[in-house]
Amino acid sequence: MELPKLSIAALGGTVSMQARNAGEGVVPTVSGETLVSALEELKTLAKVRIETLGLLPSASLDFEFLLSVLSWANFQIKQGATGVIITQGTDTLEETSTFFDYLWRHPEPLILTGAMRSADQAGADGPANLLDACRVAVADDSRGRGVQVVMNGQIHSANAVRKTDSLALHAFSSPITSPVGLLVEACVRYLRPPSPRNVLPLPQVTSQRIALVEATLSADSAWLENLVALGYDGVVIAGFGAGHVSASWARAIEQVAATIPVVIATRTGSGSTARSSYGFSGSELDLIGKGALMAGFLCPRKARILLWLLVGCQRQDELADFLAAD
Ligand code: ASP
Repeated sequence: MELPKLSIAALGGTVSMQARNAGEGVVPTVSGETLVSALEELKTLAKVRIETLGLLPSASLDFEFLLSVLSWANFQIKQGATGVIITQGTDTLEETSTFFDYLWRHPEPLILTGAMRSADQAGADGPANLLDACRVAVADDSRGRGVQVVMNGQIHSANAVRKTDSLALHAFSSPITSPVGLLVEACVRYLRPPSPRNVLPLPQVTSQRIALVEATLSADSAWLENLVALGYDGVVIAGFGAGHVSASWARAIEQVAATIPVVIATRTGSGSTARSSYGFSGSELDLIGKGALMAGFLCPRKARILLWLLVGCQRQDELADFLAAD
């Protein structure tokens, strides 16, 4: 029987890191080809094509680079790949997965993975995560699920996954929803059917700037007041609790929302923003009245990605509909 075709792109991150000299910190050095060559089992699972597209810590990835990775991934599907896998740093995985998910229009799976332990560390999790990602990518049940993150034996949907621990092996979780699937004895087991997806066209513009500002106790509003003058095209506020800010921030938001989109998310790390409960100055009802939109379950960082993409394809008028779906 012919093996399915998988394409793997390596971008860098801890999965590719090791120390150049004893006692030095780890840096991205290991190519995708080397990562894959260590996975004997993969040879019986799929016919693999691998490219090292970057060796970067994931904090230094940017939207332009991600668009070029997306175009590489689209080409792999055109060439007949059953699925595509991207290995990258875990620090920004919750953002890159959302970015790709809004733009991924194929039924074939796009799977993102990485590692919490560097390649030269005892018990490195990179090889196991990469093998699991390949198992998910070839599974028939993975079709139509968009972009997913596979880490630590769990499969997470792009719209839910968060990095919720800085260093632990179980750094990734999907608050509220839990993982969408698991790897059980090397088999892919989905716990829920696929959810409907919203796919956007490629952005025609990439120079837009979207700020993300966290509300904090007794914070002044100077930066917020100057966002428009600073040239920002939109802002996401990581608000207190259910999406709240102070009375002084509420006044600043009213001014800003008259010119650019303002989205209020929750800084709590889990749960939805409110839309109709509180009425004090700085509450969600007050902010909605002042022109802001509530992010629902979408976390601040994912809301920023959505706004960047919508502004980039001149569809910011649809922001409310996209957020209502969350
Ligand atoms: N600690 C990160 C990682 O897990 C570094 C990065 O994101 O590149 O890969």
